[in-house]
Amino acid sequence: MARQKQPPTATAGTTFPTAEAVDIGKLVEDLDGMLTRLRLGAIREQLDGLLEEAARRQLNLREALAWLCAAEVASKEQRRLSMAMTIAHFPFVRTLEGFEFEAQPSIDPGKIRDLATCRWVANGDNMVLLGPPGVGKTHLEVALGREAVARGYTVQFTTAMELLGSLVKGQQQGMLEVRLAQYSKPKLLIIDELGYLPLEPQAGHLFFQLISRRYEQGSVLISSNRPVEEWDEVFGDQVVAAAILDRLLHHSHVVTIRGDSYRLREKRRSGLFRPQAGGSSSSGIGGVPPPTPAKEV
Ligand code: ADP
Ligand code: MG
Repeated sequence: MARQKQPPTATAGTTFPTAEAVDIGKLVEDLDGMLTRLRLGAIREQLDGLLEEAARRQLNLREALAWLCAAEVASKEQRRLSMAMTIAHFPFVRTLEGFEFEAQPSIDPGKIRDLATCRWVANGDNMVLLGPPGVGKTHLEVALGREAVARGYTVQFTTAMELLGSLVKGQQQGMLEVRLAQYSKPKLLIIDELGYLPLEPQAGHLFFQLISRRYEQGSVLISSNRPVEEWDEVFGDQVVAAAILDRLLHHSHVVTIRGDSYRLREKRRSGLFRPQAGGSSSSGIGGVPPPTPAKEV
């Protein structure tokens, strides 16, 4: 009969000696080392302060232990959050609190706050954000992305140009599979600025492959200055555009922003710009017509 494998350390299976039998002074000397070994860095770093506070509040042992653990958990959560924010590659920091809803009356604040709960991310649904330049699409993408990170979802922010450039290059180098896998990983993939610049001819097919792969698995939040009716022009292929939209819009939330650029609004206020002739608030900026929604959900 095969001999049973020995446990890796001599201590495994041994019972912990009673407090009388151990040298407590020696244990206290080893405390830093033990905390390091247990990866309790926050307790180690703040030990004196935490113990003083526990004594000041006359916490009993169980309460003091809970107090120390809470400090460690808070520190680990903070680290996770800051690492996840770095990995997400947001272009800047923007929050929902910093979004002036009064400046953009076409947006329903209740709907955005509901989307900020990230139930749609949990369900693997998609979100499409349409509107002319400067109306806050990227701001909302970053703000919602940060909400998703805060709720523990993996998020990656990219632009349509960067994403498709990477897929096209991946295909040329025989690395398409690797790139598709990489962009399929995050629970929420944010794709900014679809439609601003012309795409390479094969971009539509590659984009379709990515959307298909993520379909009903992970969420996509995509923003565009072009209404979805014009995406066949964006991708240069009607059939591919229809296939992409079919999957993207199946379980999706479409938010259409109709209004003036926030940037130009600020400039107008300072007297640098005057409203366009006949300027209706939804006339679009820079010759870009206001988009029409494909499907309001
Ligand atoms: P878009 O992506 O639609 O072109 P951005 O999100 O980049 O527009 O917005 C341009 C700038 O204006 C950003 O600095 C953004 O934070 C700010 N901004 C846009 N809309 C609002 C708003 N409603 N409240 C506060 N800041 C806004
Ligand atoms: Mg933008």
